[in-house]
Amino acid sequence: MPPDPEHAPQKVLILGGTAEARLLAERLIAEGHLVTTSLAGRTNDPILPAGAVRIGGFGGAEGLAVYLRAGGFDRMIDATHPFARRISENAIKAAAISGVPLEQRQRPRWQKQPGDRWRSVATLEAAAEALPSGATVFLALGRQYLDAFVGRDDCRFVVRMVDAPEMPLAFADYTLVLGKPASDPDREADLFTAYGVTHLVCRNSGGPAGYAKILAARRLALPVVMLERD
Ligand code: NAP
Repeated sequence: MPPDPEHAPQKVLILGGTAEARLLAERLIAEGHLVTTSLAGRTNDPILPAGAVRIGGFGGAEGLAVYLRAGGFDRMIDATHPFARRISENAIKAAAISGVPLEQRQRPRWQKQPGDRWRSVATLEAAAEALPSGATVFLALGRQYLDAFVGRDDCRFVVRMVDAPEMPLAFADYTLVLGKPASDPDREADLFTAYGVTHLVCRNSGGPAGYAKILAARRLALPVVMLERD
């Protein structure tokens, strides 16, 4: 009997860097596919997914298209973080250039629940302006999102980062918390309490991985400045 093309093993490129991408790699490998996950290389010690892994940028959409063709990939899946916009745009262009089909996996955003004290904003500048003078602000943001808050020298910042920055941060008054977000809301709440946090700033990333801080803020009735994606 000829092989069923629906279930024939495929060579799949996953654009990853998220917990969802790791689960997807595991599942596709279990189904018999040949999976390569691509990581940007932003963190020093990434959790590696199952299957093959490549690390680093491709050199734009054209570079990604060349990689797809040279590797003989049958399909590409964009499972990157919802705020990683450039790579998702590149994936659309690279699919058009290379003819390799693209599937996009976008997590649903978090929805405000009873007890949440969110102020939704569209830009980082609006997030910085939303903070009251004298606030102690927990910034649960990537390092590329911090500049907008530097001018708020009337606030104290608690900045969480996975890896230590190479240079001191430009805030007038800040504390660095190194490490990944906890998955246990009690631990996130203890952290907020220990640092005297009065406001949380974060992005509406969706998904379970970062939700513990939202639960912790709800429990402590902390105001949250929520940066929404388009
Ligand atoms: P971005 O702004 O969309 O991408 C910037 C550049 O980084 C891209 O043009 C590409 O370089 C390279 N790149 C990004 N993701 C890549 C990947 N998976 N494989 C190979 N190259 C990649 O991305 P970002 O916001 O910096 O995020 C980088 C990675 O971290 C993503 O894979 C994302 O899933 C993960 N991540 C991001 C966040 C976040 O908050 N943004 C949070 C958790 C995880 P070239 O143009 O040279 O190809």
